[in-house]
Amino acid sequence: ILNQYLVELRGHVKVSFEFFPPKTDTMEGMLWNSINKLSRFNPDFVSVTYGANSGKRDNTNRIIQDIKKRTSLIAAPHLTCIDFTPSMLRDIAQEYWNNGVRNIIALRGDKSINKCSSLSSMYAVDLVSLLKKIGDFDITVAAYPEVHPEARTAQSDLINLKRKIDAGANRAITQFFFDVEQYLRFRDACVSIGIEIEIIPGILPIFDFYQLQRFVAFTKVRIPQWMYILFDGLEHDLDTQKLIGIAVAMDMVKILVKEGVRNFHFYTLNRSDLTYTICHALGVKASN
Ligand code: FAD
Repeated sequence: ILNQYLVELRGHVKVSFEFFPPKTDTMEGMLWNSINKLSRFNPDFVSVTYGANSGKRDNTNRIIQDIKKRTSLIAAPHLTCIDFTPSMLRDIAQEYWNNGVRNIIALRGDKSINKCSSLSSMYAVDLVSLLKKIGDFDITVAAYPEVHPEARTAQSDLINLKRKIDAGANRAITQFFFDVEQYLRFRDACVSIGIEIEIIPGILPIFDFYQLQRFVAFTKVRIPQWMYILFDGLEHDLDTQKLIGIAVAMDMVKILVKEGVRNFHFYTLNRSDLTYTICHALGVKASN
């Protein structure tokens, strides 16, 4: 039945892709291979993360400008506010606006481990307001189906999301998740407090479950027990992990499509293989 839904909806599902700035020439090659391969799916936009702790916004900016020069894709930089003063942020936003950037993923970012105090005590909502004063940016913000780790309560986190939307954000992309029910409950909760914009699920196709376990330690994302069982004993078998990763993500997107989701954001980690397979099976309209 779920496969039947996918067939009926072929061409109606839309996607966006997230990349990160590469650190080496080899990684840069991998990034461009992925961008070129995935651009076939005519994504609504592609975004490039900003590593707050590295202090290298130039890397994000360079990749954004290159994407704009080399492709016809809409390129959206991630911008975090925690390491900047409001005046620095205004300059950055103005520079983006002057360079023709109209889409921004507006985030607070995480506190630098090396610095005792951050430059700014801004939250993402403040960044959204600041950006809107510079220009009519198309703004995406972050949402957390399993609640942000620093939130006092789930309700206060939800109210924070509502404030970001009220300040001018156009959509939210969720932290990745593996519990589809949790996302659906969260989407209902958003509707119940009057959030009308789209809560786009962030999908992280797994290619290394053991790396994922280290990574989720910094989040409140729950790995369901069945995933430990599915990946059990595959620590040194990345090929099989990849195939299971695709199967897990496919199951998720099928249920989400059945539940009315038509837009997906993929955390590609600069790889095209898993995301390409999933987009193909999802029937995302592709150009030749
Ligand atoms: P906010 O919306 O500001 O919320 C942060 C926390 O503060 C929440 O717990 C919220 O409930 C709480 N809060 C908000 N207002 C108040 C208040 N007035 N008083 C008390 N508490 C309050 N990080 C990067 O460094 N670079 C990236 O490129 C990046 N990309 C991301 C992309 C997506 C789609 C997502 C989901 C996350 C991304 N992150 C990135 C991670 C993000 O920066 C962190 O999760 C960060 O800790 C929170 O950012 P935010 O924008 O959600 O913050």
